[in-house]
Amino acid sequence: MRVLLALGGNAMTNAEGRARPEDQIAAAEVAMAAVASLLETGAEVVVTHGNGPQVGNLLVKNELAAAVVPPVPLDWCGAQTQATLGFVLMDALDAELARRGVDRRTAALVTRALVSLDDPGFTKPTKPIGRYLPADEAALLVEHGETWEDRGEKGWRRVVASPEPLEILDAPAVQALVDAGFVVVANGGGGIPVVREADGRLRGIEAVIDKDLGAALLGDRLSADVLVVATDVPHAVLRYGTPEAEEIGRVEVSQMEAYAAEGHFASGSMGPKVEAACRFVRTTGKPAVITDLDSIVGAVEGRTGTVVLPD
Ligand code: ADP
Ligand code: MG
Repeated sequence: MRVLLALGGNAMTNAEGRARPEDQIAAAEVAMAAVASLLETGAEVVVTHGNGPQVGNLLVKNELAAAVVPPVPLDWCGAQTQATLGFVLMDALDAELARRGVDRRTAALVTRALVSLDDPGFTKPTKPIGRYLPADEAALLVEHGETWEDRGEKGWRRVVASPEPLEILDAPAVQALVDAGFVVVANGGGGIPVVREADGRLRGIEAVIDKDLGAALLGDRLSADVLVVATDVPHAVLRYGTPEAEEIGRVEVSQMEAYAAEGHFASGSMGPKVEAACRFVRTTGKPAVITDLDSIVGAVEGRTGTVVLPD
């Protein structure tokens, strides 16, 4: 059984979304205990993860230190967070595996995802990143070519493209590591977005890929048997937040797509998870599960969570 596990924000920050090093290490320990339980069932596991708060912190450092050290582009921030989170997750998993006497090796891979400059996101960026700034400070950054939006009372916020991932360029390296028995952390933050130049060279680009859509594509390329999207709720819910809320259990993909079209899943949170789950099921014919970290062993067996199945 090969599992592609996508970890949400609560696996890397505390419940309030704080991302001090100690918060990240503590959250990683909890998440990796769940992964260790999965490994004890004999599963092969590839872990991917979000990086929103971590990239947000790097952007603030960039801004505050710009007069002293040169700011680095967003794709570099992605690479830095893949490496740091990979290291934190590996350390936590190694410790948990040693504690349980499970003999498995871990590896983390800096992973690039191909996107197209023709993606509509580049003409109309939609993904908000980093912190809010007052209008005059935002205006300065607009002069430097960035896109910022007036978000009312909270201030201005930078928006960037969130292009479709077309290919996970380093998937063959992930595959080789999995085949060699490694538990691999890869494609964090959806992958470092790169475009292919006319001469064939790759170039990093300022954009943010949705980590769940990146996970669905990587899962397809690795022939995963199941995609597990681990977040902070045990199920996707119909009429979320209303008195008529209803948890979704086992559901066929066309039914799930119909629910999505009816607008049950918020665009910045549950929406992309449902989209990723449906895509994975459509392209692979295998199930995808949306659930919380505590439920992932049951999720892989199709017993708990929102289990999206082929029609
Ligand atoms: P993560 O950080 O784990 O990737 P998000 O925080 O972006 O995930 O999304 C998970 C959140 O989505 C849940 O905590 C919940 O508040 C919200 N949400 C929005 N719509 C729904 C829905 N229909 N069903 C369940 N959760 C939903
Ligand atoms: Mg979150």
